[in-house]
Formats: sequence, structure tokens, C-alpha cells
Amino acid sequence: MKTIIEPFRIKATEPINLTTLEYRKKALEKAHNNVFLLDAEDCSIDLLTDSGTGAMSTRQWAAMMMGDESYAGSRSWKRFEKTVKSITGIKHILPTHQGRAAEAILAHTLIKRGDVIPNNSHFDTTRANIEYVRGIALNLLCDEGLETENKAPFKGNMDIEKLERCIQKYGREKIPFGMITVTNNTGGGQPVSMENIRQVKAVLSRYDIPLIIDACRFAENAYFIRSREPGYADKSLMEIAQEMFSHADGATMSCKKDGLANIGGFLICNDDQWAEDFKNQLILREGFPTYGGLAGRDLEAIAVGLVEALELDYQVYRHATVKYLSERLLERHIPIVQPPGGHAVFLNAKKFLPGIPPLQYPGIGIVNAIYVEGGIRGVELGSVMFGKVDDKGIEQASPLELVRLAFPRRVYTQSHFDYMIEIIEQVFVRRDKIPGYRITHQPRFLRHFTCHFESC
Ligand SMILES: *Cc1c(COP(=O)(O)O)cnc(C)c1O
Repeated sequence: MKTIIEPFRIKATEPINLTTLEYRKKALEKAHNNVFLLDAEDCSIDLLTDSGTGAMSTRQWAAMMMGDESYAGSRSWKRFEKTVKSITGIKHILPTHQGRAAEAILAHTLIKRGDVIPNNSHFDTTRANIEYVRGIALNLLCDEGLETENKAPFKGNMDIEKLERCIQKYGREKIPFGMITVTNNTGGGQPVSMENIRQVKAVLSRYDIPLIIDACRFAENAYFIRSREPGYADKSLMEIAQEMFSHADGATMSCKKDGLANIGGFLICNDDQWAEDFKNQLILREGFPTYGGLAGRDLEAIAVGLVEALELDYQVYRHATVKYLSERLLERHIPIVQPPGGHAVFLNAKKFLPGIPPLQYPGIGIVNAIYVEGGIRGVELGSVMFGKVDDKGIEQASPLELVRLAFPRRVYTQSHFDYMIEIIEQVFVRRDKIPGYRITHQPRFLRHFTCHFESC
């Protein structure tokens, strides 16, 4: 098989700083051993997130110059609306500044105290928006989704029986809508099959409950369906995306992911009354319904990006990068979550550093070692990020200790990936030297962003 090459060449370059080991040790010390507190320019390769960090194409930059900044009814809005409709087939389109703004409008409009929202797994901002209006965010992921080495093809699927039981337990009146997140970000970017979307819709329909898709990575999910689900190998990604949305009554979207843009989002629905109510909230929070929280040029960039995300060559390359890194790490016996999802590779920190107990944060040990060794910034998804205390105030470990290496879209080339492999291997070979950490300072909420660490 031939090498899968990046389906683009580079027209503008952005320099990255190449620093020394000594420099990085000092920088991390100054950041209190928390990579969130580093200056971005001190990170040679930044894998903190794939959200809003992608590179735009020449077509997107050209479209930005065509941005129509009229307050109401601009040409850019019309292009945006037409594109979103052509992909989703959904009637009412509301632009927002990013995904969580769409979620907030949805939650404020439709959820009452005590209502229950089932999902395969709620993303953290989705959960926060539901809980803020006193709703209950339920995760009904299939069992294999929680097993880090089960190689099932669609580990993002919802468990249909759990959904059925959930509706019987709480009753239709308590469930204003159900959701499904494609791909399942919280579960490692694992895909959801078309069959599962169809089944979820069928169950919800029987009780007259609408379905909302959290569509942030809809194009990556469409590619997984094309390559893994029988009957889809000859379909275009556009056709697959259209079929996915044909089962939905609405969707929320962060265009910072599969919109291939640096900012933006939308909320869409078929129901006229919902659209009316959403618009009232939209005007209050985001802006007039033909721009949401966005400039005309942003709407243009997104309209082009959404279509580019569905180009087969792009998705082939995108998925090849994930596969390239994960296969080479596995060859070196470096433990990762399998199979890898669509936008990131996850190191299994418990297996990487079996000698370090969860409450000495093995994930932080790896994140810090990879930064010092090679200037690569990853993120811990373990007991620091998901840390909880029990009734007696005793800290509880998270079930999984992971390190996420998320891939910005169209940003790094194969040599950057080769470098990542070398650095992670060096850290793995010398893993006995990696210390555990303790927290010396932490805020009350979302501690992972700002807490300070000290090695033990
Ligand atoms: C990123 C993301 C969101 C929130 O979008 P923002 O643009 O960051 O507000 C919601 N759901 C999923 C699955 C996401 O990945």
C-alpha cells in the first residue's frame, strides 16, 4: 500500500519554537508543573485539544474576504444557512458563537427542574448546561464503550435496552428530548453506527420523544460508518451525513471541530415552536438570528469548512494520522486505548506507570515527562480532571487514568508525528524515573485548569 499523504500543501507557515530541555524544565516549574499554565509558545507541538485549533484552507481564507457584515440578512448568512440545510435537511438554522451556546439555549428553553436527558455520553459542557437548569444528564453508553481494550467497531453506541428502561422509569413527560453524541467525545471519540442512531430514534419515536444529535464530529463519524458498517462503503460522506441527520429532530454543533473553523457553532431544529422559542433566547444571548454570535466572515469560513470536512481524501488522511501514531505506539508496547477514536490517541496511564497510585496522578507524570522531553503538550483525563470527594471529604480516584493527545486538524505533518513517537518512546523507556505528584493548591471548581503540583 502506498503512503497516505497529506491532501494539501503548505502556503503559509507558522513558526514553532524549538526549546532546550533546560528551558522546558524551568518553564514547567514556573507553571507549577501544570501544563495548562504554560505559555503556548513554549509548546513545540500542542496536542491539548482539537477544538478551534485547526488550519483553514485557501478556500476558507478566500471566503472570509467575501464576508458580508450586514447586521441582518447578509449574503454570508444565506450561504451558511444553505450549507447547513444541504447537509442536515433540517428546517430552522440558528448560528451561535460555539457549541456550548447552542446547548445553553436548548437547555434553557426545553428543560425543567427534574427532567432527564439520556445520551450515549454527555460532553462536559452539555452536562453542565443541563445540570445548571436542574436537569439530570444520564449516560447510557453500551458496555463495551467502557472497556479500554475491547476492539468493537462502534464503542460510542447507546445501549438501547438502557434507553428503554430509562423511559419506563422516568416516563415520557420527564424527557423533553434524547441526545446522541457523534463521535462520543467523552468516551474517547468512539463512533456511533447508523443502525444505532436508527434504533435510538425508533425507541424515542415510540414515546414521541424528539432526538437531538450533538454533531461536533459528524464528519469523522460519517467516515467511520463508511469504513466499518456494512452497506456504506460506496456512499459519499455527504450522503452518510444526510442520512444521520435524517433521523434527528434537531442538532447542536461546535464548528471548532468538524466545521474546520476556529470559532462558531449552531443549533438547528424542525419544530416551528421550538425555533420561535430558541430565537428569543438567541437574540438575548448571542445576537440577531442571521448572525448569532459570529461575524459574517466566520459564517463564510464555516460554510466552506463543513463541506471540506466531508471530503473523502481529507477524512482518509485524518484517520490515517490517528492510525499512524497508535500503531507505532502499540509496536513499541506503549499502552493505549483501543481501537483509537477519530480525533485523538489516549495513553493508558495506569498501565504506563503501574507503580504510581491513582491519587499520585500517573497521568500528570506522563504529561509532564512528555513536555520536558520534547515540548509536546497533552492533557490528563483522570483523577485530577474528574476528581471527586466523597461525603467524608476523602478524594476518590477516577475509574480511568488517561492522557489524551488530541490532533488539531491539518496542522501537523508526518515528521511531527514521527517526532511524537520518538519522544513518547523515550519517556516510556525511562518510565521508572517518572515521579507521582501531589496538589499543593487548588480552586473549588474545574481544578485541572489552574491547580499547582509538586512531585512526590
Ligand atoms: C466541543 C464539544 C462541545 C462544546 O463545544 P464548544 O464549541 O467547545 O462550546 C459539545 N459537545 C461535544 C461532543 C464537543 O466535542
